[in-house]
Parts: sequence; structure tokens; C-alpha cells
Amino acid sequence: MTTAETPAPTRSVDRIVPSISTIEGGGFPVNRPFPSPALDVLDPFLLLDEMAPVEVPPGEAVGAPAHPHRGFETVTYILRGEVEHRDSVGNHGIIGPGDVQWMTAGDGIIHSEMPSERVQTEGGVGHGLQLWVNLPAELRRTAPTYQALTADRIPMARGDGWEARIVAGSMLGVDGPATTHTPIGYARVTIQPGATVRIPAADGHNAAVYAFSGRGELGADHTALASNELAVFEPAGGDLMLTVPLDAAEALDCLVLTGEPIGEPIARYGPFVMNTEDEIVEAIDDYNAGRMGTIAATGSL
Ligand code: MN
Repeated sequence: MTTAETPAPTRSVDRIVPSISTIEGGGFPVNRPFPSPALDVLDPFLLLDEMAPVEVPPGEAVGAPAHPHRGFETVTYILRGEVEHRDSVGNHGIIGPGDVQWMTAGDGIIHSEMPSERVQTEGGVGHGLQLWVNLPAELRRTAPTYQALTADRIPMARGDGWEARIVAGSMLGVDGPATTHTPIGYARVTIQPGATVRIPAADGHNAAVYAFSGRGELGADHTALASNELAVFEPAGGDLMLTVPLDAAEALDCLVLTGEPIGEPIARYGPFVMNTEDEIVEAIDDYNAGRMGTIAATGSL
């Protein structure tokens, strides 16, 4: 941008959504801004969970044993700790700190997401994010795949007092490595006290910021955002402006999401997301009949 250009407008925050605290998988705590009583869906995003940072003693770590998904994608970003995954397509690996696993469940997959053997033995703090990304009707039953976006593959944009790891989409002049089925931006942004970052977002794309550490102020009117809260911006075009007050005790660490709405009806039942109730019944029947496969026993890494 040259100095002669008019600055882009700044989006306002439409609302601040608190997280609900709930228990997932085998019994680990999550902070969940949506779906919740305050926000059902943020099209094209269906769910956001922060696996809360909890110190777990040796031998007591729990994860999510084998379970199915159909009709959408799960995106797992590990901040601390390690998750070992296995799935019915034969994939097996460890997602470590800074790594993202972008799994397209599509037609159907069974997977397990468990603490690694090392975490099981040694204990420690686990912390991560899981986002569910919807698929349009014609792609709901696409073949399941996953993308291992390891930390070394995730590029960084940097400015004065901030850095942004770009996982998906083109943000702040950097292209994320994820292949997405609809236009999506996904970035982890860290902003030091006293710094501001402006992130352009396409007109009509939904945009939100989830704070998982620290606090900030968003938009031209400096709407306050605390940890474990989600700020949803108004959809009209303009930059997302994130500021951290100079007197803040720590940096703001947050997830910035943008996405083109899919705009189709959604039918949900637990791990299945489709367009109609009939398709949900079909998914349950297919799972019960074993048509989503099984996880083969393989050696540990
Ligand atoms: Mn899962």
C-alpha cells in the first residue's frame, strides 16, 4: 500500500461470545464458544473447542478414543503437549507443539485422538484448539484425507510487536499451506502490549477472533476481548484491527478466522454434520453397519 491510498475501513465487533466449559472425549475439559446458547454456528465454522491448559499427572492423561465423523473437517492445532492419532484410512502420527492436522472426514472416518505415549508416561500440560469446518453439500461425502501441517511448514508474517502464523488462506501477505474446500483464513496471531495489527478480510466473509491467552481490544471502538472469549465481527468488508493495550500484563495469543459462508441448511447429530435429517439417519446406519471402517492395530511410533 502506498501512503496516497485511502486506508481500508475497520470492521466493528458485532458481539462478544463467552465460552461454555464442558467435558469432551474421555474426560478432558474444553472451553467452547460455539456451538453454545450464545452462538449456534459461524458459517462455515461449526464448532470451536479450546482444550484447556491443564497440568495432568503421569498416567492420568485422557484423550478421545475411536469415534466417527462424516460431512465436515476437523482442524487440530496443538499448542502444548502431543496427540497421537490413528484413523480408519490407515493414518497414524503424532501432532506436536505448533503442528496442525487438517482432517477432511468427508464420506466417513473413524479416528482416535489420544495423548502420546510420552505424555501418558510423563504427564504435563496439554493445550490445543479444534475447529470444525463445514463442507458444501457436493463435497460432504468426498473421500477422507488429512493434511499434516507441521510447525516447520507454517509460515509467519511479522510486524512491529506482532507475529502471525498463517495456516490457511492468504493473510497479511503470506499464503498458508492448508488446502481448503471453500475460502477460509486461519491464523494464530500473537500481539505484544502496545502493538496493533490490521488484517484485511474479504467483504461478506464471516470473521472472528478467539483469545486463548491474554486480552486485547478490537475494532475502531476498541471493544474489549478477554481470554476464552470469541469476538464476532460485522460481516461488511474492512480490516480486522487488533490492539493490545500498553498496560496489558502479557501478549494476546489468539486465533483469527475468516470464511466465506456456505449458506446451506445444517443437520447435526454428535460427530455427524449433514444437510438433512435423512442424511443424519443414513450416517448413523452406515456407522452402525461398519461402513466407515475400523482402525487397524499398528505398532506405536
Ligand atoms: Mn474427532
